[in-house]
Amino acid sequence: MKKIKGACRCGKFTYELNKPPVYAAYCHCTECRLRNSSPCTSFIMGLVNCLVVAGEHDLYSEASGSDSTLDHHRCSCCGTVLYTRVNKLENIVAIPSATLIDESVFQPVEHLWVQSKLPWLEINDGLPQRSGPPKLPAGLLSK
Ligand SMILES: [Zn+2]
Ligand SMILES: [Zn+2]
Repeated sequence: MKKIKGACRCGKFTYELNKPPVYAAYCHCTECRLRNSSPCTSFIMGLVNCLVVAGEHDLYSEASGSDSTLDHHRCSCCGTVLYTRVNKLENIVAIPSATLIDESVFQPVEHLWVQSKLPWLEINDGLPQRSGPPKLPAGLLSK
């Protein structure tokens, strides 16, 4: 299989994912919007033991709406978040899809947290819309 690769804006922090994503979606939550200065975010999830990163990065931790902690790993130079660990999802890493070098890797299945979607943002891609968090396959939830 072709390796999935990504990089930050300045190119100093990079990753490779050795297996295909296990999930992908758009998120309309307020936290994601502010963190990324964007009207919504898009991300893939992969298995943490398939992620290999290189380059200097630091950590920004925050509490999330669904009673968990998010650890965002971002480039020490340009600040782009390349991956996020959710403390409730021990096996999983979330990766902003905008960092993917091959953008076709992102194949979203749904929209999340549409209850906090910006009113001027229209969704017309026909994908399911959830008011809250994803319903991940049981096998992915270790805790
Ligand atoms: Zn960078
Ligand atoms: Zn979000």
